[in-house]
Amino acid sequence: MINRRSFLKGSGIAVVGLTAINGFSEVFARRVEKANRPNILYIMSDDHATNAISCYGGMLKDIMPTPNIDRIAQEGVRLNSCFVSNSICTPSRAVILTGKHSHNNGVYTLHHDFDRNQQNVAKLLQKGGYNTAMIGKWHLHTEPSGFDYYNVLPGQGKYHDPFFKEKGDTWVDHNEGGKQYEGYCTDVVTDITLEWLENRKKDKPFFLMCHHKAPHGLWEYAKRHENLFDGVVIPEPESLQEDLSHRSEGSREYGRNMLNLAGRMNVTEKKKWPTGRLDTTKMDDSQKIKAAYQKYLKDYLRCIAAIDENVGRMLKYLDDEGLADDTIVIYTSDQGMFLGEHSLYDKRWMFDESLKMPFVARYPKEIKQATVNDDMITNVDFAETFLDYASLDIPKDMQGRSFRWNLAGKTPSNWPNDMYYRYWMQFEGSKVPAHYGIRTRRYKLIFYYGLPLLDKGNTAGWVTKPGWEFYDLKKDPHELKNIYGQKKYATKIKRLKKRLLNIKDRIGDGDEKYPKLMELRAKHWDWTSN
Ligand code: CA
Repeated sequence: MINRRSFLKGSGIAVVGLTAINGFSEVFARRVEKANRPNILYIMSDDHATNAISCYGGMLKDIMPTPNIDRIAQEGVRLNSCFVSNSICTPSRAVILTGKHSHNNGVYTLHHDFDRNQQNVAKLLQKGGYNTAMIGKWHLHTEPSGFDYYNVLPGQGKYHDPFFKEKGDTWVDHNEGGKQYEGYCTDVVTDITLEWLENRKKDKPFFLMCHHKAPHGLWEYAKRHENLFDGVVIPEPESLQEDLSHRSEGSREYGRNMLNLAGRMNVTEKKKWPTGRLDTTKMDDSQKIKAAYQKYLKDYLRCIAAIDENVGRMLKYLDDEGLADDTIVIYTSDQGMFLGEHSLYDKRWMFDESLKMPFVARYPKEIKQATVNDDMITNVDFAETFLDYASLDIPKDMQGRSFRWNLAGKTPSNWPNDMYYRYWMQFEGSKVPAHYGIRTRRYKLIFYYGLPLLDKGNTAGWVTKPGWEFYDLKKDPHELKNIYGQKKYATKIKRLKKRLLNIKDRIGDGDEKYPKLMELRAKHWDWTSN
């Protein structure tokens, strides 16, 4: 746990008597801390790729600038290496709330219910004197707990004239119910958020989670953005039509790719595409991919336009109300997203486009303007960080670490240089096999074990081919050359396999619980890698 005394010193807050060894100074320090506790405004969208945020650079930055999200980074910090531990909506949200990996919070897949009786960060902040609220997309199935107020979308929610379930109404099916609001979802979420802020009890600091549905598929934009990108040709990523022959058998034939998307967009009858059909009948496969990419990106980026406008509304409110200095503002997404890279849309995979979460934060009292931070941080660390800002103790069973110091430019010397990833769904419908792996600053090692291990969220009998992949991210940042099996990397891979097993043991996700997996590992866990 972080030494709060040294943080107070570092943050420039004058605390008399900190060096005294009696209990009085500790109590006094706590009081000073509590009097200075910031509000926490946590804005999270759904499936927003770093490649679609202009402060992260990339080829879309001039086509779709995001000045309001960028403003948070300019006035605060941008994280370049923030990763999700399980790249899919419901599991990521459970990790963020609990500070625990999926196998410890019980939400492995989209199909697992969040146990609302377990500890979560909102409950701890509420108990610790914060006014807590959750507005927008929830997607954890069970009724939100730990919030003084909530008003959330049933299930995935609707883009136009959405329904919202408010605290006090009876919670029955998580996909059903609620009152209908007129308007575009991103605007309505912000309206409700601002209304809550306006009417909140002002005697306490607030912890406010504002979760947008956008830009989750099927990318239905606001009417006002309909003509955005008319006549514009969106540049393509180099791997839009990737030759997958370098891949292992574990991944080569799977995934939600652009050709699938072209097929979905072309449907005329039952599952008609909501933003209009893409007629691909006279196109060859390459033309279909290119056309689906243009439509996908334009629809997606139009959704981003509304998000950025609404982030601007929130920042303006904080400015107008004099709250900007006392509020830590965070903008992030529940995971990354493929924007045509590797010929994919969607998320789930351990490739960086899906693994990386955008994360920008502003808190002028501690974070210097225009800070760029490269520390390896994951969504397992979020809850601990909120508690640290609130000067509350971090429970021992949380598995991450607060990165409050990192944001302030004082990264602890023993900060991790690797992260563990695990996607648990072995679900035929999403076409992505289960896998786990380790990412360091330089390398990535992935094991596709391809077995359904769980009762929920897995398709019984969908067994995919096992395989290993290894990428050198320095030489190959876009992961276009799997070099597993190359002799010169044998020692490196062997070491990484040990490191991967060590992390699994440390966080309590050993494979021993699954005899079938152990059996498969005995065949495919080749220690020499050759
Ligand atoms: Ca998501």
